[in-house]
Amino acid sequence: MSIPGGVRQEIPFLDLGAVNSAHRTGLENAFKRVLEGGWYIMGRELAAFEEEFAAYCGARHAIGVGNGLDALHLILRAYGIGAGDEVIVPANTYIATWLAVSYAGATPVPVEPDAATCNLDPALIEAAVTPRTKAIMAVHLYGQPADMDRINEVAARHGLKVIEDAAQAHGARYKGRRAGSLGDAAGFSFYPGKNLGALGDGGAVTTDDGALAEQIRVLRNYGSKVKYYNDVKGFNSRLDELQAALLREKLTTLDGDNRHRAEMASLYLSRLQESGVVLPVVPDWAEPVWHLFVVRSKRRDELQQHLSRCGVGTVIHYPIPPHLQPAYAELELGEGCFPRTESIHREVLSLPMGPTLTTDDVGYVCDAINNFYSESR
Ligand SMILES: *Cc1c(COP(=O)(O)O)cnc(C)c1O
Repeated sequence: MSIPGGVRQEIPFLDLGAVNSAHRTGLENAFKRVLEGGWYIMGRELAAFEEEFAAYCGARHAIGVGNGLDALHLILRAYGIGAGDEVIVPANTYIATWLAVSYAGATPVPVEPDAATCNLDPALIEAAVTPRTKAIMAVHLYGQPADMDRINEVAARHGLKVIEDAAQAHGARYKGRRAGSLGDAAGFSFYPGKNLGALGDGGAVTTDDGALAEQIRVLRNYGSKVKYYNDVKGFNSRLDELQAALLREKLTTLDGDNRHRAEMASLYLSRLQESGVVLPVVPDWAEPVWHLFVVRSKRRDELQQHLSRCGVGTVIHYPIPPHLQPAYAELELGEGCFPRTESIHREVLSLPMGPTLTTDDVGYVCDAINNFYSESR
């Protein structure tokens, strides 16, 4: 197969070294501040980051925690959701959404996505509600906000909490409002590859609910408000001073980075219009942040091999849905239980995307995809 333009380029799926090198001076200053400050856990950097991130999301409170999974888990714990309870989760998500429910001791109840947006289908939620249902976990998958008004409506009818899994959606807007302010509480991840990524693990909860915020502050720090006085059996899940300081620096360019992703996404959308791939659908109320640019193809594996030969890095998010993972064998949900989810997993391919991706890169990737289809037409 020919390589477009005859020149082989190397376009990585995501170049984190380049992303963070763009912040070299700011990150080094942040590191020095923490090094010389001599205080490494639960200090000024964390307090400042929490304030800045809450303001960014349009939420009253932000609480830094160890990672995104803990953020979701601690929200459920703080609401007292546990053994005997059910939580509605998307069938089509990263397994962490489900694991948070399992760690709390509750049971994840999967619901199929909308076939076009790949996010939780609000029309299918009600049928999954039982007297044990306590909450709906809505994921803004790939950085595309879920249809929150309709999800909140169903929740209100049944007295359920709505928890956003915003791990892929820092800055995304739904009808003008930011992810992290669209439900009762939200969990964020600052895993290095996320739109707001630390240089290690990190996470946060955002909420307008002061009592919930207080409870999460207690749970993340051994269940204690006053050092060595423990009210409940808590956890050790804190966002450390160093990561908080680095995140404060990176938060300053998040909007610019997200705008760049959006420009690259619209370029992909126009250049791939006539290709054979199915393109992401953006409802008119959504302002996605393009954590991932995910196309679909019935010939996904061949396309991925072709792109790899052209020097283009791609990733499959995700190859196996949670209900078919051995980890969830206990639910006895076999092949065929969630056909929309299963076909998504067979067809999706994430193209290169990130703040350092260039117009030329996108042009090269699109040429490679268009060649793949024209040669085999
Ligand atoms: C990354 C991610 C998480 C978990 O975040 P960690 O920081 O890796 O624990 C949860 N949900 C979704 C949808 C994610 O993409």
